Amino acid sequence: MTLDDIKREIENANTILIETHETPDGDAIGSSLAMYLALKSIGKDVDIVIPTHSRAFNFLPGANEIKTEGRGIKYDLGIALDCTDTKRLKGYEPFFEEAKTTICIDHHGSNKMFADFNYVDPVAPACAQILIIVLRKLGIEIDKEIGTCILTGIITDTGGFKYDGVTTETFEFVAELLRKGVKVSDTYKRVLQTKSKANFLLTKKVIDRMEFLEDGKITFTYITKQDIEEVNAEEGDHEGLVEFGRDVEGVEVSIFLREIEEGEYKASLRSKDYVNVSDICIMFAGGGHEKAAGCTINMPLEEAKEKMISHVKTYLK
Ligand code: 5GP
Ligand code: MN
Repeated sequence: MTLDDIKREIENANTILIETHETPDGDAIGSSLAMYLALKSIGKDVDIVIPTHSRAFNFLPGANEIKTEGRGIKYDLGIALDCTDTKRLKGYEPFFEEAKTTICIDHHGSNKMFADFNYVDPVAPACAQILIIVLRKLGIEIDKEIGTCILTGIITDTGGFKYDGVTTETFEFVAELLRKGVKVSDTYKRVLQTKSKANFLLTKKVIDRMEFLEDGKITFTYITKQDIEEVNAEEGDHEGLVEFGRDVEGVEVSIFLREIEEGEYKASLRSKDYVNVSDICIMFAGGGHEKAAGCTINMPLEEAKEKMISHVKTYLK
């Protein structure tokens, strides 16, 4: 699909529903809120319906207008952002699927092209960065509020401008935001640098438990439901825990498992240089990016661990 399709569909719609993936990260929530504010600014009747999110994002403009239920109407248009497949809309897919027309805007190579119109750019460092182009096409001004939401998406998905996908456009856009008076440093501090107490306590646990395997090329660690309860963890408090292993010298892949229910684990994988962890997660019906991906595994901890490690091993040089 082209930008013209998106423009036409948005212009023709009045009631619009915005959704994103489960356990929304900064890009998911930043992209959704940016789109929400932008569509409201041109007079659309928009609902942003997304799952429980980390309170770290409550400072974002429009965050207090996020709904956890649809309005019970058949929306003219459903827009999914930063989401690879309807399964990841986690319980909210009926609202989306019932919309008369659906659009998906995303940057995951593993996107399933599930909407009527799919605008997927796997090279974009964040879904939020694609929105810059989309909003320009729609002739919507990116003001300070929308800019802060887009910036949040870019900062979180690029690990603070440090990952491969960052482009000249990324910095040009941030320069433009600075010129408009957006507090770039403050946003950075809020979304990347500030850790909750629970996140800090979980960090201690995952570091303590970290195992180095395959000559130190793989790290493995995990948290259980009991850990989560012990530290009173809230939504989003596990963010970033997978990165500690990856950042150790010599490590290529970091594996982190988080217990959801007994016998059900959410796996997060990160790689440093050459392993495509998205390919690995696709084998477990998940997906993501080359260097950051995830999936759900339904088996006991030891089995899940062995299974992940044996797959990752085959990708090592
Ligand atoms: P995280 O490890 O931070 O949860 O996710 C890393 C990346 O992989 C994100 O871009 C996220 O959207 C994607 N991802 C995580 N879990 C899944 C999953 O179960 N399915 C798919 N398709 N993508 C996932
Ligand atoms: Mn993203």
